[in-house]
Amino acid sequence: MAEYERRKAALSEGMDRTLMRRYEGLRKLKAGVAIVKADGGVCQGCNMSVAPRIINTLQRNEELVFCSNCQRILYWEGEARVNRAAAGGEAVTP
Ligand SMILES: [Zn+2]
Repeated sequence: MAEYERRKAALSEGMDRTLMRRYEGLRKLKAGVAIVKADGGVCQGCNMSVAPRIINTLQRNEELVFCSNCQRILYWEGEARVNRAAAGGEAVTP
């Protein structure tokens, strides 16, 4: 059990390092901007539209999502979804 815990901790630490390296690499590559908003379904880093499947993943907020065009890390802001619903784009069930 202790061995399992140790391995789990080592694994998550390794993942953090990989992520950190990727983030630092991105930051250098993308002139300081590694994380961008997917505003209205458009990547604010490269202005390319983001696939609805990727937006869905973003909205679930379960995993990191990278723009398939510029490779930046994408994030989603909850209120954008509300605004779209308020504009009549979608039927919303409370
Ligand atoms: Zn992009």
